[in-house]
Amino acid sequence: ETTALTKADTLALRNKHISNSCTVFFHENPLKIVRAQRQYMYDENGIEYLDCINNVAHVGHCHPKVVAAAANQLAQQCTNSRFLHDNMVLCAQKIASTMPEQLSVVFFVNSGSEANDLAIRLSRHYTGHKDVVILDHAYHGTTITTTDISPHKWHHLKDYKQKKWVHVAPQPDAYRGMFRSPEHTDADLGRLYAGEVEKITDRIAKEGRGVGLFLAESLQSCAGQVFLPEGYLKPVYEAVRSTGGLCLADEVQTGFGRIGTHYWAFQEQGVIPDFVTIGKSMGNGFPVAALVTTPEIAGTFVKMGIEYFNSYGGNAASCAATLAVMQVIEDEQLQNHAKRVGDYFLTGLIALQKKHRQIGDVRGKGLFLGIEIVSDRVKRIPDACTAHLIIMAMRARNVILSVEGPADNVVKIKPPMCFTTANVDLLLGIMDECLSSAGEAAVAIESAIERDHVLNEE
Ligand code: PMP
Repeated sequence: ETTALTKADTLALRNKHISNSCTVFFHENPLKIVRAQRQYMYDENGIEYLDCINNVAHVGHCHPKVVAAAANQLAQQCTNSRFLHDNMVLCAQKIASTMPEQLSVVFFVNSGSEANDLAIRLSRHYTGHKDVVILDHAYHGTTITTTDISPHKWHHLKDYKQKKWVHVAPQPDAYRGMFRSPEHTDADLGRLYAGEVEKITDRIAKEGRGVGLFLAESLQSCAGQVFLPEGYLKPVYEAVRSTGGLCLADEVQTGFGRIGTHYWAFQEQGVIPDFVTIGKSMGNGFPVAALVTTPEIAGTFVKMGIEYFNSYGGNAASCAATLAVMQVIEDEQLQNHAKRVGDYFLTGLIALQKKHRQIGDVRGKGLFLGIEIVSDRVKRIPDACTAHLIIMAMRARNVILSVEGPADNVVKIKPPMCFTTANVDLLLGIMDECLSSAGEAAVAIESAIERDHVLNEE
C-alpha cells in the first residue's frame, strides 16, 4: 500500500501543524493507519492489526452498508435540517423505537460533547437550577461546560478550580472505590454508593437550591471500565428528582447493544432517564450524535422562544449512516453476538487472572471489558507501568489495546462488535505470553522507548 507521504513526513507535518495537545496512541512510535475493515486495521506497509479498542467502528470498520448509505446520500442531498427530509425523521423514529416510550424527541448534533452540552442547557431552563452532579473521574466532553463536568480532564491540573455548580460523587467502583466487594454484596454496594449521591442532593437542598442535572455513564468508560452496582441508579434518580432535578444517561460509549444484554446500558438498572445522549458508534465513524428527551422537556425551548439550529446536525447523510448502523446491528444480530463473545472473553480473562498475579481484577459486560493491572493483588496497588508495558508488547504482536482509568492501569477492551471468539483466543494467547515474560519485555521495551526518545529529540 502506498500513501502520498512517508510516515516520517506525516509525523513531521503533524508536529508542525497539529498541536501536541492532540495526542496520538503509542507516541513513541505512532501507528499510521491507511485502511481498515471489520476489526482489522492496516498500516502503510500493509501490516494487519487486530483492533480491540475502536468502539466508534461499532459494526466493523468501513462496513460496506454504512459506507454505501452515507456515500449515496452525499451524492443526492446533504444540506441543513431546515428542509424536510425523510432520513432525519425516520432516524429519529428508529432511535425512539429503542427507548422508553416517553423519550420520543431527538435533537441531532455532531458529537457527544454537543449532546451533553445541550442537555445541560435544557436542564437549566427546564428546572431553573444550575447545580450538576457527576461521578468522579468521568469524561463527558470537550466544550467548556462539559469539560467542567469531566474530572478526568482536570483532576491532574494544578491550577484548575472546580466550578461551584459541579458536585462530584464517588465512583461506584466495587474494586477500588470507598466501598468494595467482596466485603459488600453488589446490592449493598448499590445502596451505599447511592447514599453518597443522596448526601450531595441533601446538602444542595439544605442550601436552598435544587439539582439541575445528574449525569452519568451507564457504565463508566474513561474512568476505568467501572460497572454500576446493582440497584444504584434508582435511588440516585429518586434523590435527584426529589430536588426537582433531571437525570441523564450518557450512552456515548455504552449504547447500541454493546453490553449484550440490553440495547442501552441504563436499561439494566431499570430506570428511565430524562435525557439519553448517544454518539460515537451511532455513525460508525461518520460524525453524528444526538440528545434524546421527552416532548415536555424539549418543549422548554419552544416556550421560551428559543430556536435551536445546528448546521450539520441531522443532515441526511449522517442520518443515513445511523439508519444503516442500526439496521446492520439487527441484520447481523450484533447485540446477541456481543453477549456471546463477551461471555467467552470474560471466561478467558478469568482463567488468565488465575494464572498471572499482575491481573488484579477482570470485568466485562458484552464487548465492554477491563483488566486491572496491579503490583499487589491483596492491597490492589495499581501498576500503570506494567499495564503500559503489556500494551506495548501486544502492539509489537499487532494487537491494539489501550490503558485508561484514574490510576492509568486498566487495560480497556471495546472492539468493533464483529469481534470473534477466534480473535479472543488470539488476544488471550498473546497476552498470556506477554504476561509470562513481562519482566523480560519490560527491559526490551524500556530500551526501545529510550531509543525512540533519542530519535524524537534529534
Ligand atoms: N461522553 C462520553 C462517555 C465519551 O466517552 C465521550 C468521548 N470519549 C463523549 C461524551 C464526548 O463525545 P465526542 O468526542 O463525540 O464529543
